Amino acid sequence: SAKTSGKHTFRFFDKSMHDLIVEKTLLEARLREAVPNKELKLYYQPQCNMKIGQMEGFEALLRWQSPVYGIVSPLKFIPLAEETGLIIAIGKWVLKEACAFCQGLYVGGQGRLWAAVNISVVQLIQDNFVQLVADVLAETGLPPEYLELEITESVLMEQFEDNIRKLQELRRMGVRIALDDFGSGYSSLTYLKKLPITALKIDKAFIEDITFGDTNTAITGSIIELAHEMGLVVVAEGVETKTQFSYLKQKDCDMIQGYFISPPLAAEEFTAKLRE
Ligand code: C2E
Ligand code: MG
Ligand code: MG
Ligand code: MG
Repeated sequence: SAKTSGKHTFRFFDKSMHDLIVEKTLLEARLREAVPNKELKLYYQPQCNMKIGQMEGFEALLRWQSPVYGIVSPLKFIPLAEETGLIIAIGKWVLKEACAFCQGLYVGGQGRLWAAVNISVVQLIQDNFVQLVADVLAETGLPPEYLELEITESVLMEQFEDNIRKLQELRRMGVRIALDDFGSGYSSLTYLKKLPITALKIDKAFIEDITFGDTNTAITGSIIELAHEMGLVVVAEGVETKTQFSYLKQKDCDMIQGYFISPPLAAEEFTAKLRE
């Protein structure tokens, strides 16, 4: 009967599950206001060329400074933003902000760096994604070669052919494409050949494990070698120690990013560091 099933339903949604749903709904409502209320902020983490020992670019990393929750990690709100479609507005803001910051540095005489921007699959599958990138570049004046889009392997699971075509179009514009978190998913090096990418970012889980003589360490070395054979720029992320740094240098890794060099910095801090 309705009464019995009602009871079951009530039992099923015990208090903690009910709380979770309320919490998520509130989080979503507050996230919806984050862009108009200017609560989102980009942090910038240097990407350094190991051969010349110089910063050549930065990755833009999103932070949400919520008046209710404090600083919220992207690991917590990006999945919700993707699930609700809010990532479309958020991602557009990120792209504009990062390109404008990058071009602003150049115009201000602080160097010609590139901006690496994380792109979610939900953004990429929008019909107008390529046009959006073109518009943002035109609007901010950033030359396409100074924009790198970071995509993850999962991006390529959905609507594979369509996404490849879009990435090829972006490549023709001059925009660079990096495959982020490589090694954390399922893609093989042979599958990489099908992708119109210019760089490979080795997942920090591999970098974490680097100690001379370890198997994962050897894997990292092989990834670098094979990626080079395919003409890709190799970026190691999450580099924290001297040991990791030395190993990567010995293996000819092109770029490094991580606390060993610098944590992600707020725009003001980043600019101040450039002036040093
Ligand atoms: P990701 O793109 O792989 O970014 C690298 C993450 O490693 C960042 O975490 C960064 O702060 C962190 N990291 C940097 N150096 C080190 C290090 O030496 N050691 C360790 N342990 N970690 C380091 P963060 O900023 O929390 O971002 C997490 C993820 O959230 C990013 O992973 C990315 O997938 C996503 N994300 C961040 N910003 C955006 C965005 O604007 N759009 C989208 N779609 N995703 C974003
Ligand atoms: Mg990234
Ligand atoms: Mg990564
Ligand atoms: Mg990641």
